[in-house]
Amino acid sequence: MTHQQICVLGSTGSIGENTLDVIARHPDTMSVYALSAHSRIERLAEQALATRAKVVVVPSDSARSRFLLAWTGPGPVPELRVGSQALADTAADPLVTTVMAAIVGAAGLPAALSAAKSGKRVLLANKEALVAAGGLFMRAVRENGAELLPIDSEHNAIFQCMPQGSRAAAPTTPAKGVRRLLLTASGGPFRTTPLAQLPDVTPDQACAHPNWSMGRKISVDSATMLNKGLEVIEAHWLFAMPVNQIQVVVHPQSMVHSMVEYEDGSILAQIGQPDMRTPIAYGLGFPERINSGVGLLALTALGRLDFEEPDFDRFPCLRLSFDALRSGQAACVALNAANEVAVDCFLNGQIRYTEIAGVIEDCLDRMEGMSHPELSTLDDVLALDAQARSIATGLCHLQG
Ligand code: NAD
Ligand code: MG
Repeated sequence: MTHQQICVLGSTGSIGENTLDVIARHPDTMSVYALSAHSRIERLAEQALATRAKVVVVPSDSARSRFLLAWTGPGPVPELRVGSQALADTAADPLVTTVMAAIVGAAGLPAALSAAKSGKRVLLANKEALVAAGGLFMRAVRENGAELLPIDSEHNAIFQCMPQGSRAAAPTTPAKGVRRLLLTASGGPFRTTPLAQLPDVTPDQACAHPNWSMGRKISVDSATMLNKGLEVIEAHWLFAMPVNQIQVVVHPQSMVHSMVEYEDGSILAQIGQPDMRTPIAYGLGFPERINSGVGLLALTALGRLDFEEPDFDRFPCLRLSFDALRSGQAACVALNAANEVAVDCFLNGQIRYTEIAGVIEDCLDRMEGMSHPELSTLDDVLALDAQARSIATGLCHLQG
């Protein structure tokens, strides 16, 4: 591959920071072309200075002013672009070869889709984009010759365990010889918490993941296992796999990142430290393996690997996700949107942890009877997303 010019969408987040860490290890083969962030603008200015980014995208004119205030030089100020259209345009910039899509939530969908439509190598961390618009996104990848590399650790593991020939972008049928995908889940911080205590858990407890360090929204999703539900939907789209051939397995050590089960009885697994720099380096280096900065895994120190069935009573959000996938795309859009609203309200102290599932379920129920458009364009998806958000917001107020 030629020297990669990389656009990191969501550079100040957990995935964004890890991406910059890996890029900095390979100055001969890759450079940062553009960075973007929604908040932590001072950190964005530091990143732009350290990486010599040519372009920086911020959400508003006031963020632009903050960036300029925080800029310490030396060297010219990067070109500053403002707003969500600038974000999508930068992802499609002709000088960009590779886009890391690491914005959190459906807010990252337009820019991720723009990267796919302009035929980039797309490193996809933003799972909400696939949940809300899987069909649309995968078609954009196929029709525009984009290269799609899953960064979510489970999907990256599955990608690594797939038959070599099937690694082409955006399959339309399941890979030959594959029987099932086995998605591992840690079970999060509340895997063994007595159920009676769950209504009183705090945002900080929910965000204290036992194995991974991540942004707050995905940390709460991991606690409720809605994250695993989103990942089931993500796997369905990425690997063209029917829902009944995707199984979730609880694996508390988070060392086996997921598995592919074959017709002949073989199961291939990818194993490694729970450190996102491994899947990020895989995506950046593909098809080669490059240094990620992750230390080796001492298997003998691990001792044991456990696997359990998921408990749908403890994790109702997982059941809701399977139901949404069976029900169709409108339900998946609503599931994701309602969850984003509910998690936000939980993090702000407006609703309890155990009310998250109720808000999602009620929102899905209310939207079920409504008629939905085809969802064949980005605008259709965004309109339905907005409708679900407004219903979920109302439901959160009822709870609060
Ligand atoms: P984070 O909250 O740490 O960072 C999110 C980034 O997106 C920040 O740079 C933020 O400024 C930006 N952002 C937030 N809202 C925005 C908006 N409305 N418009 C534009 N930019 C916005 O999140 P994260 O943990 O890095 O996760 C990023 C994505 O990757 C999520 O979709 C998450 O599900 C996925 N993911 C994360 C991990 C992980 O280990 N953190 C693992 C797998 C998948
Ligand atoms: Mg994951």
